[in-house]
Amino acid sequence: MSGISGQPDPFSIVPLSPQVALAEPAASSTSAPTARRTVRVAWFQQQDYMETSADGTRYGYMLDYLELLAQYANWDYEFIDADGFSSAYAMVCDGQADVMGCVFPSDERRAQVAFPTLSMGTAATSLYVPEDSNLAFEDFASFDGMRVAVDTSENLLNLQQYAERKGFAVVGVLYETQAEVREAVIDGTVDAGVQGGYRDDSETRSIARYDPSPFYIVANKDDPALAEELDEGLADLKADNPLIDEELMARHSLAYGDAVTLTKDEQTFISSGTSVRVAVNKAWYPLESVDQGSGEFSGIVSSIFDEIASQTGLSFEYVQVENNAQANQMLRDGEVDINASAEYDLSDAQRQGVDSSHTYLTLPLVLASASTGDANTLAVPAFLTSAQEQYGDSYDIVTYQTVQDCLDAVLSGDVDKALINSYSAEYYKGESRYDSLQLSSIQQGSFSLCATVRRDADPAVLSILNKGIDAINDADMNDIIVSETMGTQTITVRSFFSRIPLWASITILAVLVAIIVSLSLLVYATIKRNKRISNLLYHDSLTSLSSYQGFLEEVERTVKGRSCHAYAIVSVDMDGFEKYNAFYGFTAGNQLLKDIGSVLSDGLQPGETCARTFADNFLMLASGSEISAMVQRISNLNERLRALRDARALSFSFGIYLIDDPTLPPALMCDHAFTAKRAIKGQVEMYYAFFDAGENARRVRCAQMVRDLSTALENDEFHAYYQPKCSPFTRKTIGAEALVRWIRDDGSICSPSEFVPVFEENGTICKVDLYMLEAVCRFLRQALDAGEPVVQVSSNFSYLHLRDECSPDNIIELVDSYGIPHELVQVEFTESSFIGPKEAMFRAIAMLHDAGFSVAMDDFGSGVSSLNTIGNFPFDVLKIDQAFLRGSFPHGRTKDILGAVIGFARNAGLSVVMEGVETEEQFIVLRAFRVDAIQGYYFSKPLPEEQFRARLASEYALRDDERI
Ligand code: C2E
Ligand code: CA
Ligand code: CA
Repeated sequence: MSGISGQPDPFSIVPLSPQVALAEPAASSTSAPTARRTVRVAWFQQQDYMETSADGTRYGYMLDYLELLAQYANWDYEFIDADGFSSAYAMVCDGQADVMGCVFPSDERRAQVAFPTLSMGTAATSLYVPEDSNLAFEDFASFDGMRVAVDTSENLLNLQQYAERKGFAVVGVLYETQAEVREAVIDGTVDAGVQGGYRDDSETRSIARYDPSPFYIVANKDDPALAEELDEGLADLKADNPLIDEELMARHSLAYGDAVTLTKDEQTFISSGTSVRVAVNKAWYPLESVDQGSGEFSGIVSSIFDEIASQTGLSFEYVQVENNAQANQMLRDGEVDINASAEYDLSDAQRQGVDSSHTYLTLPLVLASASTGDANTLAVPAFLTSAQEQYGDSYDIVTYQTVQDCLDAVLSGDVDKALINSYSAEYYKGESRYDSLQLSSIQQGSFSLCATVRRDADPAVLSILNKGIDAINDADMNDIIVSETMGTQTITVRSFFSRIPLWASITILAVLVAIIVSLSLLVYATIKRNKRISNLLYHDSLTSLSSYQGFLEEVERTVKGRSCHAYAIVSVDMDGFEKYNAFYGFTAGNQLLKDIGSVLSDGLQPGETCARTFADNFLMLASGSEISAMVQRISNLNERLRALRDARALSFSFGIYLIDDPTLPPALMCDHAFTAKRAIKGQVEMYYAFFDAGENARRVRCAQMVRDLSTALENDEFHAYYQPKCSPFTRKTIGAEALVRWIRDDGSICSPSEFVPVFEENGTICKVDLYMLEAVCRFLRQALDAGEPVVQVSSNFSYLHLRDECSPDNIIELVDSYGIPHELVQVEFTESSFIGPKEAMFRAIAMLHDAGFSVAMDDFGSGVSSLNTIGNFPFDVLKIDQAFLRGSFPHGRTKDILGAVIGFARNAGLSVVMEGVETEEQFIVLRAFRVDAIQGYYFSKPLPEEQFRARLASEYALRDDERI
């Protein structure tokens, strides 16, 4: 078993990306800091990926991966040992462990655990046998009927599908763990075993590789935050280290495809020891050459053949030829088995009656010329058949057997230019004879080199040759070319750079860096694509905070399942942002929003988050629900926000919903915070408010009222109640005020102080007022018609009737339509109506007064009106607000002021009605002040029409002369 510990690190010389040292995670991560959690990692034995040595040391691909990931995901980690894949997987499913590595995906698994977007590597599955098995690689016919050990049924299924494609059948034997599978393979209980990411070792070897597929670190599904950390952590890790999988694969010698595995026939050929005869050019520098003295084959192609030999075990015997034509002749004659180098041209190979190997090298072409003049003739090496076709139209082509012949033809002036490969061109230009030649590159000019094989050679020769060529990866190939052209056999990237001039190193380095950077960008772009989509949804690009959607999800995750009152939602915005934008410009406005975002996100505690939802609206999920602590925090925030650049002129409002019901939808919680904030909008002295459920219920009712108004009017839900106004002297009812009562369908009574302000806001109160007046008229009409006693009835009118919106004409018309004498109707306007432009009000009141209606000023003393107002308008009645009767009344200054007001009004010719009289004491004082009428509970509450009629009837039964 080949673990990593105890062995020299094989990766230290792999020059895959020497510049890309593993990047540290960026310190300035944009994501909000979250608590560092300890993640429980399920660990099971998987060769090279997860291993534990006798002393308990863990090592393997997964460990390296985890160490890096933890930095990006902000994790600490601990291990939980599992018996094998299945039990580790079960642990992650049921939450005993948080994550595990090396999981191949399937639909079933995706339903059970959380897979991140990015994999932790790619591995093929192998069918493997004991080292001494007589089964050969891909010897499918011999595989038929063998018993194969698997550790998951999924592995068996994949194997069966692969077997079907390859025309053999297997019998599956299910084991619990990889270790058991391996044991069964080694002790011969089964013929073969299956393992993902398998690698040959001293006891076993692979006989088939299939389904290279990505494998993943997965997380428990019940912890979405964990899954997100995993997903984001991986994305960030790979964004910083795009080649991380390859590097770690190489470090653990897990890169598959390098090793050549041979079929039975190929092995037979190799073990026969037959040498393969290869024709090589004796002077095709620097690609092929034969040392005249030792007869040794050297050059780039020779190094490649050496590599093929070492990978496959083929042994070559080199036969030198003058040129390619001779090599082809010898192939045809059976004097050699392979021509080492030919242009890869399948139709030409067909003509020659040879097979082509896979290509092993691509050579750029250049033009060599002696002068810069026009060129008509072109020398081309004979074996470059494609070039002859390609350039035949533009030049007169002259073919030569060798590169050197082509160059000589240029020097002698026989041709104008020569078309040759750039390696040779550079090589010969180094000789003084060819020093004067100019080289110019041609775009897209290159040709691919392959070997050609005699048709009647053993078929194993071609197949082994191809496996050898395929086994040479790009890094090996680069090393070969570098070492051949730099004239050194052993070279590392470090020595390479030290050997060449500084300027060249810098250029090469720059190119390498450019390649790596563009590669990184490409990988980064792919990785970030998914992130970007979710970013659009869940993040606010301006402030880097969450978006509303992101915030809702965060609240859902954080608050759900918590006890009540663990968190609060704070809604923040400012007054005057539009003006700020207009004044300072949008750039400054945007900067202010960013700054606000920073202030809000600054001191966030674990579990807290904040978002910008739209415009200048921010939301914050704050922990704790202790009111005084919250107020303190809001006050600090307010201070810091107002300290922002040019923010003094702005005022911030905070609405706070202390989450008392964590089961509410997060959007409703945010609404509550928003509602609380809206209630104090524009109030300078209040910058925060807590959401009040009672208050909210009231607001909800109001909103409902407005919607219900038209049906309420249609259904006659508004009723007039009549509150008597009584003479302090006779105690008899001398008038009444009609007060609206909204009796809903369900019997509930809605007080006017609740709905009148609502209806005033949208102007619908005018309808209600006229509706009430009509009710009064109807009542008076009936009473008059019935010969019952009647009194003057006052009706309340909103100040809107004093504006142009609702003209007093409506009032007069309505009263007239019932034929009611005008003196039986009094019109009350509340004191607050008399603020604003006076002219229209004066006209309206004068109009009513002149028409014979009594006009009363209501609620005098409750607000801002002055005695002046009384003097300026043609009122008939002053109704003094009950506020005068509260407080120190009947003692002290209130009583004196009340007396003075009453005296003033009487002197001005107004009759005075005192409202809200409740007690005998009040009554006595007011009688002494000689008010004209008293309205209040002392005499009567507002009465339904029937009761009021009965009251009048009983009072006026005997004496009609007391009627007003
Ligand atoms: P208001 O015009 O000042 O009406 C008198 C209010 O005082 C009535 O409340 C009445 O029930 C209450 N009240 C009467 N005597 C006493 C007392 O001894 N003690 C106390 N504490 N309260 C007393 P109500 O009926 O709830 O009406 C409230 C207000 O709604 C009215 O105040 C009036 O401004 C408005 N309102 C009522 N009906 C209408 C209407 O049809 N149109 C308009 N525009 N407003 C109306
Ligand atoms: Ca009133
Ligand atoms: Ca009043």
